[in-house]
Amino acid sequence: MKNLSPRLRAKLISKPARFLALCGVMRALRGQRTFLLGGTGIFVLVVPPGHGIEFYEDASRLLTYGEYLVGGHGVNRDRADVIALKTIHGKRTGSFDILEESIGKDRLVVVTQARDLVSEDFERFADAVLDIEPLDPRHVLAAAKVCCDMYLTAEQAEAIAAAPLKEVAAALRKGRPIKKTLEMLKGAARPTTMVQPVLDNAQPSLDDLAGMGEAAEWGKELAIDLSDWLAGKIRWADVDKGVLLSGPPGCGKTMFAKALARTCGVHLVLGSLAQWQACGHLGDLLKAMRKAFDDAKKNAPAIMFIDEIDSMGDRTKFTGDHVHYCREVVNGLLECMDGAAGRDGVVVVGATNFPDMIDAAIKRPGRLDRHIRIPLPDAEARRGILRFHLAGSLEEADRALIADRTEGWTGARLEQVVRDARRRARRARREISLADIQSQLPEIVTMPEAVLRRAAIHEAGHTLVGLELGIGAFVYVEIKDAFDPSQGVEQWGGGARFDRPCLSERTACEFLDLIATGLAGMAAEEVMLGQRAAGSGGRRGSDLHEATMVALRLEAAYGLGSGLTYLSGTSDEELLVTLHMDADLRKRVERVLAAEFAHAKALVESKRTELAKIADSLCERKKLMADEVRALVGIDASVAQGNEKPSVPESLLRGCGNGKTFPDIVEHP
Ligand code: ADP
Ligand code: ZN
Repeated sequence: MKNLSPRLRAKLISKPARFLALCGVMRALRGQRTFLLGGTGIFVLVVPPGHGIEFYEDASRLLTYGEYLVGGHGVNRDRADVIALKTIHGKRTGSFDILEESIGKDRLVVVTQARDLVSEDFERFADAVLDIEPLDPRHVLAAAKVCCDMYLTAEQAEAIAAAPLKEVAAALRKGRPIKKTLEMLKGAARPTTMVQPVLDNAQPSLDDLAGMGEAAEWGKELAIDLSDWLAGKIRWADVDKGVLLSGPPGCGKTMFAKALARTCGVHLVLGSLAQWQACGHLGDLLKAMRKAFDDAKKNAPAIMFIDEIDSMGDRTKFTGDHVHYCREVVNGLLECMDGAAGRDGVVVVGATNFPDMIDAAIKRPGRLDRHIRIPLPDAEARRGILRFHLAGSLEEADRALIADRTEGWTGARLEQVVRDARRRARRARREISLADIQSQLPEIVTMPEAVLRRAAIHEAGHTLVGLELGIGAFVYVEIKDAFDPSQGVEQWGGGARFDRPCLSERTACEFLDLIATGLAGMAAEEVMLGQRAAGSGGRRGSDLHEATMVALRLEAAYGLGSGLTYLSGTSDEELLVTLHMDADLRKRVERVLAAEFAHAKALVESKRTELAKIADSLCERKKLMADEVRALVGIDASVAQGNEKPSVPESLLRGCGNGKTFPDIVEHP
């Protein structure tokens, strides 16, 4: 509100619905900086179903004419316009030839009740077609405060936000008791659970999706089990009853559930706490949740998908006012999952970004006892995802090019890029090309020669010293030659990977070797380039941080250093506090680090030629596998695994996931 002109402020304060509509419009346009600052642009805004287009039309006017800006008089009102498209009694109203009307306008917003009211033709000339999302509880909280002097609880705001704006406009008024408002909105029309019909051919099957890994395997097994169960060959008790999917937003969890239902040939019921909460108070929420499970049971066999299942919370972590509410919600869910009536034929798929925040009871056997992570797609998966969304357009080699440039991207982000590229091609009335997609990819900064060389020497240092000291089975070494600023200021810049034994003796020697290997990157820089750079320190997870923590454990917790006294536990926080308070401990830790740094430097000195070879090859190839490195420096594999200590048995190294990567980060200002 601070940045609003006084005039607009006054206009907004008088009407909560106007305030909410403006929030919605601003949110839809949040990526369009130029337009928000008064620049040119043509946008189509699609109003959420049942929300009443008038409020959004009004809000779009405020915005398009520049009234929301302090000093927003720079916008020429004659060259700005808002057009509303709606149907009345099934007939389309509003301007018919928006294309014609858009000529001569700098700023145009078309607000529409439904996307299909906008002609394809017009879509082609719009900068973007954006969905306005339903009301956000945070906006409702703000609107109530600013416009009505009311302070709502989070639950009240959520209940209100679930109703269509039209009804909120009528119900939320200054001076009216909130109880009454909520009562009025209780019956508001809103979408309930959605049941997807069996064999919806519009949905992909599990075979169409790339990058689902273990989840896809599990899904295909489930399909077999479900059909066996239907045929009476196996008992319900033999079927997996649920799975918990975790992974970053946009990695395809919802899509997986849809594909799973399609592959199994069963119904899908989509639900989430937010959706059930939208039905009102606790009692209504529980009712909605039970109804969703009932819908699934009625349509059994069925998949019950619960999105953001972590939002149910963990009963052991609730505090304050919410305890009762949250407990009831979790208990309600547990009841639904294994209630008295049983849920034969209903498989529950829970999705979360935070698997650790889920109540342990939900993860018990018979409920969501299996946890599968959907990782960020690797290069091969990205190629598959692109193939899926490009549906036959572009050659495989082109898709591979794009996959190489989109490391760290989710499926959702890849889809967005394809969609934007398609629009670009459509506007130019031609087929989509590689250039269309490339134009949507963020600018990549290539590493300057000197930086790349230093990184190669650094990683070669970790590699050689790790091999010399036999800290585990060496797997690969890698450097990155490009930086994608759209992915944040700190990115994985490379590393040397060793597989470590799951169980080891944990002698002082082992820890010291780890420290020496960790410091070997900076040791190599110093030996080969005369001085080291800042990249080895500066943040948690850096070489220096990791080496310091190992040395600290050695001295303060394990009694493996220069004293026997136990000073601290093994949690990083506790150890660091002890370190800060204890000057003598700092001296001991520094002594260990300095000695191992000297050790690493001596090793590097004695292997200058080999190190230069690895570094040269890395600069050229960016990634070297273990065999390639061994061939380069002529170390025999058995020696490479450490000739002074017994080499680690292969069986202990495989599959325990106990790897050490000595990861290095590059920073971009
Ligand atoms: P999540 O539920 O994990 O947040 P979604 O399933 O909603 O993610 O994915 C969002 C969009 O991203 C999907 O509609 C789809 O277009 C795209 N997407 C994600 N993963 C994949 C994939 N493996 N293959 C194809 N498209 C994907
Ligand atoms: Zn390093």
